Amino acid sequence: MEIVFASNNHNKLKEIQMLVPKKIKVLSLNDIQFFEEIEETGDTLEENAAIKARAIFEFCQLPCFADDSGLMVEAINGQPGVKSARYAGEPADNNKNMLKLLKALDSFTNRNAKFQTVICYKSTTHEVYFNGEVSGEIISEMRGEKGFGYDPIFMPFGYQFTFAQMSQEEKNKISHRKKAIAKMLTFFDTL
Ligand code: IMP
Repeated sequence: MEIVFASNNHNKLKEIQMLVPKKIKVLSLNDIQFFEEIEETGDTLEENAAIKARAIFEFCQLPCFADDSGLMVEAINGQPGVKSARYAGEPADNNKNMLKLLKALDSFTNRNAKFQTVICYKSTTHEVYFNGEVSGEIISEMRGEKGFGYDPIFMPFGYQFTFAQMSQEEKNKISHRKKAIAKMLTFFDTL
């Protein structure tokens, strides 16, 4: 079985290929010769994942999936949410995003937040969504050098260190993305 992942992100592709059973071959957008830019115009992670999965399915008619992730912070009504990548404007800048978020939370004692991933899987017979979340808190300064995005200021509940202080393996055990992928893999078993 071949399945298209709506991404050319090398790390994500590698991670997915390592997780899926050998009988499933994961193709990238390059593999199917899809070179257009898909505009993520949705107001939610679900909408953006669906926009991407539907566009790719229309193009190649192969089973495919797309993901969209974000950081939802309780005290500021779930921001930056679907806008996480460009919270501080264009071009996307992780450092500026974190500084903007720390400033926005300056006067709040509630620092609760969650990372969320939504995957949309689309085929001729299915359009299915898988959700993965990890809860934690936004600490008041950046800690750690690993990871990406908001990792240096996100400390998952039950841990004394941030995502940026964990190894990739440690983060993967509890990450939002991993949980959504695990649910999709369970679904694949039923196909
Ligand atoms: P994407 O949909 O996976 O590209 O994620 C969108 C944005 O959400 C990223 O550019 C990051 O700002 C943020 N984000 C998503 N997942 C993570 C994570 O695991 N750590 C830190 N930031 C993340």
